[in-house]
Amino acid sequence: MPPADSRSSQLFSHRASLSSGQPIGRLMMQALNYPDLLSLAAGFVDNATLPCEATQRAMQRLSCNEALLRRSLQYDSAAGSQAFRSALVDYSYRNWPAAQPSTDRVVLTAGSNQFLHLLAEALIDPGDIVIAASPTYFVFLGTLRGVEARVIGVRADENGMCMDSLEQALARIAATGESSKLKAIYTVTDFDNPAGSTLSLERRQRLLEIVQRWRREQGPLLILSDNAYQQLRFEGSELPPLTALSPTASDFVIELGTFSKSFSPGIRVGWGVVPDDMVSRLLEIKSNMDFGSPHFSQILMWEALVSGELEQHLPTIIAGYRAKRDAMLAALHAQLGDVEGVAWRVPQGGLYIWLSLPEHIDASENGPLWKFATESGVLYVPGNYCCPPEGQPVQNNSMRLSYGVQSSAGITEGITRLAAAVRRVAG
Ligand code: PMP
Repeated sequence: MPPADSRSSQLFSHRASLSSGQPIGRLMMQALNYPDLLSLAAGFVDNATLPCEATQRAMQRLSCNEALLRRSLQYDSAAGSQAFRSALVDYSYRNWPAAQPSTDRVVLTAGSNQFLHLLAEALIDPGDIVIAASPTYFVFLGTLRGVEARVIGVRADENGMCMDSLEQALARIAATGESSKLKAIYTVTDFDNPAGSTLSLERRQRLLEIVQRWRREQGPLLILSDNAYQQLRFEGSELPPLTALSPTASDFVIELGTFSKSFSPGIRVGWGVVPDDMVSRLLEIKSNMDFGSPHFSQILMWEALVSGELEQHLPTIIAGYRAKRDAMLAALHAQLGDVEGVAWRVPQGGLYIWLSLPEHIDASENGPLWKFATESGVLYVPGNYCCPPEGQPVQNNSMRLSYGVQSSAGITEGITRLAAAVRRVAG
């Protein structure tokens, strides 16, 4: 008889095999294998500033309102709590009232990752194409691989995706007769994961124009605008969401948001705002999945939103992350500022700094830097994980650093360990 694990592996689907070997699982294993490791890899939020008291107050109010509590313990619709969706629309688009969508276009999910998964399921047949910046959010790359999408990377700099590179990618797709396979352009608009860059106003406008033209000339195409970090701005003025920049953008832009970064990832509430004509098909799929994401979490988050707990909490975390970003920048400057070929960008918000190393340094899991860094007790996300497989060269000489989890002292120590490893490899 074959061993038990090979017998059970015969049960798994082809689709399950596409999810095996994802970097997120390996990174977590590394953290377990080296318990003293200082992780600059995890994209977790700061444990110390999680909103314990605000959540206690929200739960207290909820527990005193028996009718609401009873409702929250029952199933709700696949789209999620109507009252919460309405409050969410008022809140998220308060500075852009003309772009405020109807509540019917909002779908609540268990974190915005579930929404990304739902989109992948709804839009992608094997071989379909998604365009993304290189680098981009690596977990979504895994999701897209799981549905056998081809992901084409376009160049990106401190202002996000470069529009000339996007136009070249689109021209190649059109020239090879693959226009009908192109489904979406994915962008993390503000302080992106992993590069910390923000799509500039000018590029937001160009992106809309480019997609409008493609839709006229080639056929349907969506923009997936992932706004996961939008609320974590440390400086500079807020930029308009894509749907606020053109009266027709809501026909083809899907905007995603989450309370994971601004309040709590454990409550697991995210959302997507979708074009009118996509709502019912998405909800059919979502009904098959779960009949609606956890209603109790939605009502708790609603309570935190309408009572103002979220707004009161934001300045605390923004100040905390700004201080931690500055600690990481100061440590990088002190430890690696004099090493030729080492560069980083200064994010105006969010949780990440993208570090580029001299070209000959391989920061991937197969290279010596990874070995030295983990042995000396520091973990990072190798940049190659964040690079789409097609379109742009994979950036092996780069990494994503997160200042979300560690204290300022931990960040300084982590960068000190990392810098020693970099110097060792640089020779
Ligand atoms: N989008 C981006 C760009 C992210 O970085 C994350 C979390 N790391 C998510 C979506 C999903 O977060 P959640 O499911 O917690 O809302």
